[in-house]
Amino acid sequence: MTAKEIDKFRKLLSVTLTELKESIVYLTEASKPITPSCALGRLTRMEAIGEKGVNEAMLLNSKARLIRLENAMIRMEAGTYGICVKCKKEIPLGRLEAVPEALICINCA
Ligand SMILES: [Zn+2]
Repeated sequence: MTAKEIDKFRKLLSVTLTELKESIVYLTEASKPITPSCALGRLTRMEAIGEKGVNEAMLLNSKARLIRLENAMIRMEAGTYGICVKCKKEIPLGRLEAVPEALICINCA
């Protein structure tokens, strides 16, 4: 990977991290317990509980992705970013553009 490409992916990682952190803040708020005193009707309340479950699942996924993105940042500083951890070959740039936190190439995935 050239210095220019590294730079591009460093920016991509930092933008993705910023967006993800913002959505984690939002999802944490949206996953808070629903207060029974709120003036929702019974059906609306059940819908709210269903939505809360979806938000909680998204929050868990987002937190797991955050860790993977932070790992990718560490690998970038270490100079091992974009190298498949299994076969040690370079991961195609197209895959990294779609999944900047990818650790393994498509062949190994
Ligand atoms: Zn591989």
